[in-house]
Amino acid sequence: GLTHKLQETFKKLRGKGKLTEKDVKEAMREVKLALLEADVNYKVVKDFINSVSQRAVGQEVMESLTPGQHVIKIVNEELIMLMGGRESKINISPKPPTVIMLVGLQGAGKTTMAAKLALHLKKSNKSILLVAADVYRPAAIKQLQILGGQIDVPVFTLGDRANPVDIAKAGVENAKKNAKDVVIIDTAGRLHIDQELMEELQNIKSEVEPFETLLVVDAMTGQDAVNVAQSFNEKLDITGVILTKLDGDTRGGAAISVKAVTGKPIKFAGVGEKLSDLEIFYPDRMASRILGMGDILSLIEKAQQTIDEKKALEMQQKLEKHEFTLEDFLDQMSQMKKMGPLKDLIKMIPGLDTSKLDDIDLNENEKEMARIEAIIKSMTKEERKNPSIINSSRKKRIAKGSGTTIQDVNKLLSNFEQARKMMKQFADMQKHMKKGKFKF
Ligand code: GDP
Ligand code: MG
Repeated sequence: GLTHKLQETFKKLRGKGKLTEKDVKEAMREVKLALLEADVNYKVVKDFINSVSQRAVGQEVMESLTPGQHVIKIVNEELIMLMGGRESKINISPKPPTVIMLVGLQGAGKTTMAAKLALHLKKSNKSILLVAADVYRPAAIKQLQILGGQIDVPVFTLGDRANPVDIAKAGVENAKKNAKDVVIIDTAGRLHIDQELMEELQNIKSEVEPFETLLVVDAMTGQDAVNVAQSFNEKLDITGVILTKLDGDTRGGAAISVKAVTGKPIKFAGVGEKLSDLEIFYPDRMASRILGMGDILSLIEKAQQTIDEKKALEMQQKLEKHEFTLEDFLDQMSQMKKMGPLKDLIKMIPGLDTSKLDDIDLNENEKEMARIEAIIKSMTKEERKNPSIINSSRKKRIAKGSGTTIQDVNKLLSNFEQARKMMKQFADMQKHMKKGKFKF
């Protein structure tokens, strides 16, 4: 794929002590081919290569001690710029409700995205109404109702005999009446762009005047996705793009070209079929993913999302009061488990040669976690609360109960003591830091 090809090129560059203009030209030729093969729009590739080349043959690079690295840095910077520079958040209207209209071809992922967005906004305490305005696709309304049910968000519908424009209008009225913060309108798509569809969408748009008109496109369709984005933008003047199915075997072309071709930012990425599989689109993270530099930031965010914020706060309060017990320790471990297999997380660490991953026995770590869990579960409530009462006869009983040894129990107790000390320091530190929270 693209990442592999770029990494090969970069490897050659890195290996060179000094770069000639010819070296840069050769590297640029390879980058160009790799991008074209990944379905990046031709004109976008041409402009991109021009700006990188111009900078790469400059004095700055030639005289640098690590010219190869320097060129890679330039490619990275230009790629980030191409994708919009920085993330573009969803705009929330100062006059609620914020109307968000989702448009796109059939199968792009609109209905799924409507629910994903609802869940995402719900996390920042927005009250939401979903509106089912696709009256053509069989069971489209039911689909949205089921998804809404899963995340406990109401779905407005007038059935499939009503006119989509009327549904959208009545949906927004309903949201106003019920003081909702956000209305998300799921619309119909067709297999291809056609006049009738565009007219219907234009009519809905002029009737409800959405604050955001977001185009949902399937990233797997590559160059087509970009053409679709261009047409929809011309007809509907969209405010942003959402790329779905970025989890699949996409060649990256759509992610790279959409902003350059339409001038509209990519706001979100769909990365799976589950409703939590939604990511804010960060151009810099996408660039490092494409260049194979790993994605440490996504990793951190994943950790933050998984660890239940309320639990984290409780934990912190306990720590401050020295009440952190083995039971809490167990709780924390199960939170860690929710982050998924260790292997997936490790793959996101930049600079790691993942081909060697299979040699490392990551299962060992998970086995250790299971051992710890068994030991703690073999303790009485009293012991979990106050480990200092665990004398040698208690240790013997716990080891036996958990199928481990006294050494294992000792090791756990001393680890716990250490963790408690460390976390106390951490809690004190956090208390002094202002907590940055997600805001629109
Ligand atoms: P719509 O016709 O535009 O409303 O598309 P749907 O929301 O019905 O989605 C079409 C199919 O794509 C469904 O099977 C979804 O589960 C799937 N889908 C949607 N988004 C994603 C995604 O980000 N990743 C993957 N792998 N599948 C997705
Ligand atoms: Mg749909």
